[in-house]
Amino acid sequence: MKGLVLWGINNIFAVEGLEDHQKRECRIKGKKMNLGTRFYNPLSPGDYVEFEDLEEPGQGLLIKRYDRRNSFARWNKKGRAIQTLGVNMDILFCLVSPNSPPFRPRFLDRALILAELGKVKTGIILNKTDLNVSSQVEERLKIFENFGIPVYRTSCVSREGLETLQAALTGKTAGFTGQSGVGKSSLLNALIPGAGQQTAEISAKMARGRHTTNFSIMIPQAGNSGYIIDTPGIRELLLWGIRSQDLDHWFPEFLEPSEHCSFKGCRHLQEPGCGVKQAVQEGRIHSDRYESYCRMMTELMEAEKKY
Ligand code: GDP
Ligand code: ZN
Repeated sequence: MKGLVLWGINNIFAVEGLEDHQKRECRIKGKKMNLGTRFYNPLSPGDYVEFEDLEEPGQGLLIKRYDRRNSFARWNKKGRAIQTLGVNMDILFCLVSPNSPPFRPRFLDRALILAELGKVKTGIILNKTDLNVSSQVEERLKIFENFGIPVYRTSCVSREGLETLQAALTGKTAGFTGQSGVGKSSLLNALIPGAGQQTAEISAKMARGRHTTNFSIMIPQAGNSGYIIDTPGIRELLLWGIRSQDLDHWFPEFLEPSEHCSFKGCRHLQEPGCGVKQAVQEGRIHSDRYESYCRMMTELMEAEKKY
């Protein structure tokens, strides 16, 4: 039978049967699901699987994972492996706040690259619009809008933008990611009554003794109109699968200026005659985006040295 993975860790997954809509607790059958060892978690919320029921009611065995349409994953430093946070999503919403906690554009830069790497369509949510939104925040968001990424503005206090966002996610499988404190739980609760509580209960049950849950949870939207995948509150999004010399490909506004670099294979750091640095100086590339690039470059070069 075919099923949908809702959540799970280690070897136990909550799987919803596509035909009977019943939830089962499934284990992986032997070594049949040969999915490689580069991954922190073999299955992610959003995965379609083949399973068979066991005699014990509510228990099943997983036999096979179907191919993924797309995936959002980060490098898990502790586990030294790729951690998949969500798959088969129609859209991934990346949440930020204008302040309290401060606006963190570098989280967006990373989240959007990792999503694109996994072929996931994205949208940005600026939550807490009832607080002061500075012109610097607007300017930085404009860059993403110019790339064609929609920016939704919401407030759980004034309820601004909730209907528009609701319309954008109804009937879809929508992921939500954001750093702690930006209001992800509040927003999910405002959009899907009880969502926050549901994910909190699941995390508490699954975490057993850990301080925080470190995995995503998929829950249905009201009236069987799609799902949401709530990712864990993320402190850092580390890149994977990108070579340092290719990093500039992921910064669309670097493309044209990099054609004017004196050196072929210029990394746009200390090299003389760099078209990208020239563009930063002239304000054609936002200096903060360049800063983001430099930090990612340092991280990738460090990682490459280790292998
Ligand atoms: P999470 O860590 O991203 O899940 O964030 P929470 O939903 O727990 O919210 C963190 C804090 O921000 C809480 O004190 C919320 O009451 C507050 N908060 C959430 N949304 C808004 C909003 O739209 N405006 C304001 N001013 N505060 C908000
Ligand atoms: Zn250059």
